Amino acid sequence: MKIQEADAKGLLLAQGLPVPGWSVARTPAEVRSAAESILADGAGRVVIKAQVLVGGRGKAGGVKLAGSAAEAEAVASAILGMSIKGITVRKVLVAAAADIVKEYYLSAVLDRAARRILLMGSAEGGVEIEQVAAERPDAIVTIHAHPHLGLGDWQARQLAFRMGLGGHLRAAVGIARGLVRTMLAYDADLVEINPLAIIRETSADGTVVERLVCLDAKVTLDDSALPRHPELEALRDLDEEDPADAEAREAGISFIRLNGTIGCMVNGAGLAMTTMDLVKRAGGEPANFLDIGGGAKSDRVAEAMRMILSDPKVNAILVNIFGGITRGDEVARGLIDARAQQLRDVPMVVRIVGTNATEAAELLRAARFETAATLDEAAARAVAAARTAGA
Ligand code: GDP
Ligand code: MN
Repeated sequence: MKIQEADAKGLLLAQGLPVPGWSVARTPAEVRSAAESILADGAGRVVIKAQVLVGGRGKAGGVKLAGSAAEAEAVASAILGMSIKGITVRKVLVAAAADIVKEYYLSAVLDRAARRILLMGSAEGGVEIEQVAAERPDAIVTIHAHPHLGLGDWQARQLAFRMGLGGHLRAAVGIARGLVRTMLAYDADLVEINPLAIIRETSADGTVVERLVCLDAKVTLDDSALPRHPELEALRDLDEEDPADAEAREAGISFIRLNGTIGCMVNGAGLAMTTMDLVKRAGGEPANFLDIGGGAKSDRVAEAMRMILSDPKVNAILVNIFGGITRGDEVARGLIDARAQQLRDVPMVVRIVGTNATEAAELLRAARFETAATLDEAAARAVAAARTAGA
């Protein structure tokens, strides 16, 4: 699950990382009053940042500075409602603009192959790390945290020195360790600070100091671990969630849209992947991964069918059920219900084996469904049907 910058900053702050203050506003008027109090506190300018779950907001015009409350309001009017990579901006972050001396990059990511947390740092901050990786891979410093011992101080120091942060060693070490702590505390699979920045601040007595702070934050949480953190569910941004995803989650269905034309309805994640492989081997392209889960009742089957058919690219459907706890006749009833309600007529091939397969076969025969005995046959016929429909 991706979360907004403002929420990510909240998690970092809770883990003791240095994050300059901010607030979130939904209207230009709210931005104006936030800017008024920030400027009254002595800041020279405010920064207004689109809160959308995509990167490159700066380049897209979603990050702007303003020198007065009126200007902040005008800037907010431009940013709120604008579209960034297809997503409409509905809220912005407002903060005192930092006086940036230099931008760095620092992230922690779950390295599944190494089964460790990987820290990546670079003195080339502010730009997208993929670009740095492609053009100057030697400009990226990497280090693995030990799964039991965590990130050693010596490792964090080495990382900091190699990033050119020797002058802010203590802060850099604290932040690197804080990223690993944040990963573990929330079961995150990515915590990215870009830019991590040295900023210049004038303290009350007029002296100028430099400080290392997290100016941007991106956190993604491991969906499978969310049940361990029910409080984080509140950070889900429903404004940006694909309605199909929300529907699937509510119905207890795992559903991932893909680019092909053959809708797949399967029970069990392993069988769903196998089914997709066989569709591909038969020359077709799956339109989705869909696991109706164990013990699905007819209403969940009908719901899954609606989700598949809501994708206009789907021109054939393959149903592959291996009945264990899931009963074949329940699935058949769901398919029959779904067909009675469905808005468009899409050819469908059904294979149901296992628990109550005989009852299922009778129901499907009576309702004139096309059935197949083996998975290979079912895949081949679904692919043929998709070809005919697509021709
Ligand atoms: P992103 O483009 O979505 O990654 O958004 P960022 O928060 O990283 O902002 C993009 C760029 O805007 C940063 O790399 C900075 O150069 C600039 N920026 C962001 N916040 C501030 C700020 O407080 N002061 C100044 N001067 N520049 C900022
Ligand atoms: Mn950024």
